[in-house]
Amino acid sequence: MTKPTKSISYLDLKAQYETIKPEVDAAIARVISRSSFILGEEAKAFEEEFGKFSGINYVVGCSNGTDALLLAMEALGIGEGDEVITTAFTFIATAETIVERGAKPVFVDIRLDDYNIDPALIEKKITPKTKAIIVVHLYGQPARMLEIMAIARKHKLLVIEDSAQAHGATIDGTPIGTFGDAATFSFYPGKNLGAYGDAGAVATQRPEIAEKMRLLRDHGRSEKYLHKILGYNMRLDGIQAGILRAKLPHLKKWNQARQRCADRYRDLLSGVKDLVLPQRFANAVSVAHLFVIRHPKRDQIQKALQERGVPSLVHYPVGLHLQPCFDFLKHREGDLPVTEKASREVLSIPCYPELSDADINYIAESLRAVCA
Ligand SMILES: *Cc1c(COP(=O)(O)O)cnc(C)c1O
Repeated sequence: MTKPTKSISYLDLKAQYETIKPEVDAAIARVISRSSFILGEEAKAFEEEFGKFSGINYVVGCSNGTDALLLAMEALGIGEGDEVITTAFTFIATAETIVERGAKPVFVDIRLDDYNIDPALIEKKITPKTKAIIVVHLYGQPARMLEIMAIARKHKLLVIEDSAQAHGATIDGTPIGTFGDAATFSFYPGKNLGAYGDAGAVATQRPEIAEKMRLLRDHGRSEKYLHKILGYNMRLDGIQAGILRAKLPHLKKWNQARQRCADRYRDLLSGVKDLVLPQRFANAVSVAHLFVIRHPKRDQIQKALQERGVPSLVHYPVGLHLQPCFDFLKHREGDLPVTEKASREVLSIPCYPELSDADINYIAESLRAVCA
């Protein structure tokens, strides 16, 4: 392979750091000078500020987005013997944590227009054991929460919104994360709001659930050596909280930059044969965590892009129902046809706030050329 003349990063966290260096450095220095390394004032302040940003009443900072799912499920009483309906077209954490809680994941296929769980297929999978639905707002695009909540209310099911990819997304102006009983967030470095290490949060509109989450994440303690319930060490790190506080005031602007990047791609790439672009929905505002195209010859396209110096990734190449770790669920190819089609055809191209217009133009031009 000849070396490409152009080199674009799939994501450039260093470029982002350069734009906020004084604020981040000051936050780290502040935490160190106070030596409040675990939870502390910094975490408390971040929880309040992120609650304001995301429009959710109670935010409980924790170790990462995976632990957030465990905390949400345990606080809501989801566990042994329960069935939890979810999507197989997501990051492993969404479903692995269901099994870790002693419950059984029940996969429902997705819609091809937004890659999120298809509400029309949910009721068929409800049994007397069904306790909850875990919805994922994939790629930053809200799932169809109005339809999902109507089903949940009818069947008295709990709803958790895995919002790891969707900080700030809305449906008819209502923030995601406020529809269900709890929402989970990841601040993994590559997410729309990313820490400089692992971090996450669990959030809810229900005060008694928030209280339970708060206890669970810190050994069940209400005072230093008073343990009301059995819990875990799933705490938010003070330095990460400080960094997140320094970055949060920029998040709205960064989300808008991602949306502009997505719109620019849509303009530049419209009308390319066999290339399906992410749809824009009138009422559901995506925060463009990823820009995911679809093409029947995905693997060839990816390789040809690479040769032109354009990196891309596949989110996700295998539906979770076909992952070896879920063999015990006895799924076969064909069980979730839309998930399987998406996993063969999707491709994520660079989309982040620091990506220059020149690079977007180059990527779009390259994609047009390789599709031709
Ligand atoms: C990133 C992610 C998680 C897990 O978050 P971590 O902070 O990496 O543990 C869970 N669900 C989805 C959909 C994600 O994208």
